[in-house]
Amino acid sequence: MMEQYLATPIKKTMAQAKKNQVPIHRKGFMVVLSSPSGAGKTTLSRMLLEQDKKLRMSISATTRAKRPGEKDAVDYYFVSKQKFAEMVTNGEFLECAEVFGNSYGTPEKPVFESLEKGTDVLFDIDWQGTQQLLARARLDVVTIFILPPTMQELERRLRGRAQDSEEVVKGRMAKASHEISHWYIYDYVIVNHDLDESLKHLLSIIDAERQKRDRQQGLAEFVGSLIG
Ligand code: 5GP
Repeated sequence: MMEQYLATPIKKTMAQAKKNQVPIHRKGFMVVLSSPSGAGKTTLSRMLLEQDKKLRMSISATTRAKRPGEKDAVDYYFVSKQKFAEMVTNGEFLECAEVFGNSYGTPEKPVFESLEKGTDVLFDIDWQGTQQLLARARLDVVTIFILPPTMQELERRLRGRAQDSEEVVKGRMAKASHEISHWYIYDYVIVNHDLDESLKHLLSIIDAERQKRDRQQGLAEFVGSLIG
């Protein structure tokens, strides 16, 4: 009886509150994932995008050759060196860099369109691109570095991929230490012992970042409507 008595007015109040609720909009932000090749970044990005529907992948343009199984406009926009240079001249890139002798760049327009809609954008870019993004929009960028548990494991994973020639694998191992040496510019660092565990860490980082006060627009008005 007592419960029924209490339930009615509370329900009404909550319904009324919902009706008069001041909306809170969230600004989208950029999530950067970097690691040496073979540390699990591509697999983790795929798992993350499957789990988190509020996140979309930024598709980079590159001058490197397509690997078996890769699709244009899905994995990358595969462009000629001339086209890439034109895109640079036209200011189409949010950031761009040369990695392993090929050019890579993030087309700016789709990123800003997503952010404006409140959709967060995931980037698989190297430390040079990360530095450029940080210099341009520090407050809207969350950076995460993925480390392999050991260098032996990294090499095993690179060979297991069987996508690259022996020469390329050797080159990538040599460059891995250089990429890893930039770990300290990142906000978060995950040692990828286990994909499922690393995924959990990624999801919690992104969830926590979404609750940040500065990312929520209309919060002051919302609080005003709560406490008057
Ligand atoms: P891969 O050729 O193995 O796909 O990528 C090689 C490296 O280039 C990876 O470390 C990847 O994160 C980086 N990369 C891919 N796209 C971009 C981009 O648009 N900008 C920058 N700065 N790096 C990129």
